[in-house]
Order: sequence, then structure tokens, then C-alpha cells
Amino acid sequence: SSADKLEYVKSKIGKYLDFPKKGIVFRDIFGALTDGKACVYLRDLLVEHIRTTHPDVELIVGLDSRGFLFNMLLATELGVGCAPVRKKGKLAGDVVSVEYKLEYGSDTFELQRTAIKPGQKVIIVDDLLATGGSLSAASELVRKLGGVLLESLVVIELVDLDGRKRLDCDVHSLIQY
Ligand code: AMP
Repeated sequence: SSADKLEYVKSKIGKYLDFPKKGIVFRDIFGALTDGKACVYLRDLLVEHIRTTHPDVELIVGLDSRGFLFNMLLATELGVGCAPVRKKGKLAGDVVSVEYKLEYGSDTFELQRTAIKPGQKVIIVDDLLATGGSLSAASELVRKLGGVLLESLVVIELVDLDGRKRLDCDVHSLIQY
């Protein structure tokens, strides 16, 4: 069942204290991806969620860099396109940019103008929702290009950080800590 698959995936996600710095509990998706069954179950869970809630999706946008593990996988399963949101300076041609705040300083995300047609229905995917800064910037980029954001989808949500409050879109997570 889906609940069994979810439990299995959850049991494989790594946990590292004080990484990348003191005070952070790092939840490591790669711990699950070295396990073949966890890969298949993770795919099944994400695909099932989209098929039942947003079968009309037309494009899956993945965030730099662990979102890329999922955007083409899901696009292929659903028969739709995918696109990357990347850090500044990595994408060719005309791009839209959004600056977003980090704990210290800021960073810039970009999306190619040709990636989205106005009115296209989009889901953004990433491995993990923490403060919501990354997904918030990505959703701004999608909307700048006229995309209709159906939801943001993550494998893991750190609920204590209340990241979904920063997002003015639906958010779905498979696993919560
Ligand atoms: P945020 O913008 O604060 O929601 O941070 C989300 C991004 O940072 C995601 O792309 C995650 O990969 C990464 N991230 C933030 N906090 C953690 C954490 N505790 N464990 C693993 N990844 C994290």
C-alpha cells in the first residue's frame, strides 16, 4: 500500500546532526536513493499524488539541484515537459531572475524565458521544504512567465520552520519532520 511505501522510503532517509553547520539537522534524500526499492516507491508515491490531484499538469519545474532528481523522472512518467530553475549564470539565453534571501546574504534563481508558455499549468518540485525561500523565489519565476502554478511538491517538509506560510501556493509533502 501507499502507507507501506511511505514508511519504507522514510526509513531510508538519512539524518545528520550539525551538517552543513552546527544546529542543522540535515535530512539526506540520497540515503534513500541508494536503495532500489526506495527509488521505485518514491517515484510511485509522487506520480500517484500528481495523477490523483493534478492530472492536468503540463510542466514540471525542478529546483537546483536536488529537484533535478525528480523533475525529468516525473515528466517522463506523466508525458509532460520539464525545466530547471538554476542559480544565477548557469542558464543560456534570455532568463528571468529573482533574488532571494538566505540565512546570511542572498542568492539568485533563474528560469529560461522559453521554458514556460503563458497559461501553462506547472508543478514545482524539490527534495525538501525548509524556510520556503527557494520555493517562494521559484514560484515568482514561474508566474513572471505567465505559468499557472498548481502546487509545490516536496518529498520532505520541516514543519517547525513553517515554510509553507511563506508560499502563496498549495504545498504537498510526502514526509514531515
Ligand atoms: P529553504 O529555501 O529554506 O526552504 O531551503 C530549501 C533548500 O535547502 C532545499 O533545496 C534543500 O535541499 C535545502 N535544505 C535546507 N534545509 C535542509 C535540511 N535540514 N536538510 C536537507 N536539506 C536542506
